[in-house]
Amino acid sequence: MTPRGLLVVIAGPSGVGKGTVHARVRAALPEAWLSVSLTTRSPRPSEVDGVDYRFVDRPTFEQAIADGLLLEWTEYAGNLYGTPVTPVDDAVAEGKVVVLDFELEGALNVKEMRPDDTLTIALLPPSMEELQRRLRERGTEGDDALAARLEVIAAQMPHWQRFDRVIVNDDLDRCVGEVLDAIAETRRRR
Ligand code: 5GP
Repeated sequence: MTPRGLLVVIAGPSGVGKGTVHARVRAALPEAWLSVSLTTRSPRPSEVDGVDYRFVDRPTFEQAIADGLLLEWTEYAGNLYGTPVTPVDDAVAEGKVVVLDFELEGALNVKEMRPDDTLTIALLPPSMEELQRRLRERGTEGDDALAARLEVIAAQMPHWQRFDRVIVNDDLDRCVGEVLDAIAETRRRR
């Protein structure tokens, strides 16, 4: 019998380097399976429908909620995001590691919905000062937007302690190694 797979939610404040860690973790795991979320947000120029997201209008998204097709969903910056339940459950039953990139609440919701199948990992910066420096360097926000974002990030900080693992991203290789160790250890225990 194939051992059950695992849902791994890797989340963290913006600017922590989540995207890079996700890419490295997926590349290192042959059994990784990518879930494609539904969203009402418009595609960015580089994004492909069905690959990055399934881009739908709001009535279609609301119908998916009503039909019970989503494992969880959230509203983020005015848009809806949700994870189709059947493909994810099928992938776990087939022994796949489903790596999910969610915001804080989505991560905690998945843990609540599938407590025995989910590992939640919080990626945190070495300090708020370092995060501020990285966000400034990234330069995607103006001063006011950056200040607002930092306020949200500071308010969220205590909630990351509710995750199964908290990993500090001060060195990329070490951080990816710790994420992979946490996944391997959880799978061994199942
Ligand atoms: P973006 O618009 O930048 O692609 O995504 C915005 C936020 O939505 C990110 O924090 C991303 O992790 C989160 N997100 C993407 N898909 C889902 C989903 O299916 N469920 C939840 N809860 N969050 C999602």
